[in-house]
Order: sequence, then C-alpha cells, then structure tokens
Amino acid sequence: MEKEVVAHFTAILTKRLEEIIPGIQVLKEALKEGSEMRPLDEVDLSSSRYSLEIMMRIQSRSHQELQEIASALRRLKRGDFGICTLCDHAISLERLKAQPTTMVCIDCKRGLEGAERIKVA
Ligand SMILES: [Zn+2]
Repeated sequence: MEKEVVAHFTAILTKRLEEIIPGIQVLKEALKEGSEMRPLDEVDLSSSRYSLEIMMRIQSRSHQELQEIASALRRLKRGDFGICTLCDHAISLERLKAQPTTMVCIDCKRGLEGAERIKVA
C-alpha cells in the first residue's frame, strides 16, 4: 500500500478515535450516575432503567469500534492494512474508504454472511 494511502487512513482513523474517546468518557460518567440513582416510584424506575440500557448499548458499540480502530491503526503501522485476513488478497480501496476498519475483502465478507445465514437457518 502506498505511503499516501497509509497516511490518509491513519489520519481518518486517528480522528475517529479522538471523536469517540470523549464520548466513551461521558457515557461512563452517565452510567455511574445512573446506577447510583434511587428512583422514587415505578415510573422513575422503568424510565431510568430504559435510558441506562440505551447508554450501555451505545457504550459497548463504541468500545467495539474503539478496538476495531486500534486494530486498523496497528495494521497500518505494521503494513498489512488493506489485506484480507482470510484470503490474503488486497481489499479494494472503495471498500476501505467506506469502512476503514474492515479486515476482510468483499468476497470473504459475502462468504461469512452466507455462512451466518446457514448457521441461523
Ligand atoms: Zn478475502
């Protein structure tokens, strides 16, 4: 992969990392506050549980994204960014632009989705 392309994706991913890290901090604070809340009646209880659940869901998604970005940055540094981890073929630039954290090419992705469907069915 060309130097400019590596620099381009490193910049994009670093920026995204900077965007989500403060968000994770804010969510952690909110979750902490939420768990210490003492609801007065049933209505309060259900609404606070509801918002806590949403926050937890967002938080786990951000955490996953954080790990995906960290892994992509590691691969950029190591030089195997943009190489499919399953078939060792290059992942198309269009696919990387749309989803810089992807680790598999479109063919393998389709294969995985097909396998998922078979497993579920
Ligand atoms: Zn592949």
